[in-house]
Amino acid sequence: METYKCNNCGMSVNASCAKCNDPLVNGYLTLDDGTKVQISSCPSCEGKIKSPQCCGMDMNCEV
Ligand SMILES: [Zn+2]
Ligand SMILES: [Zn+2]
Repeated sequence: METYKCNNCGMSVNASCAKCNDPLVNGYLTLDDGTKVQISSCPSCEGKIKSPQCCGMDMNCEV
């Protein structure tokens, strides 16, 4: 299972798709203005969510 961790406070989150029960895969989306956004996507249904945030920052993904 993919685990996201906050470097600031140490909180961690397990990310999985509630529909498919599959662990989410870490990835990036590039926006029109060139900004990279960290995302988590489901390999089964190809659903995407923004990566969890903590302390106002994207949480780091630990593989
Ligand atoms: Zn935090
Ligand atoms: Zn899914």
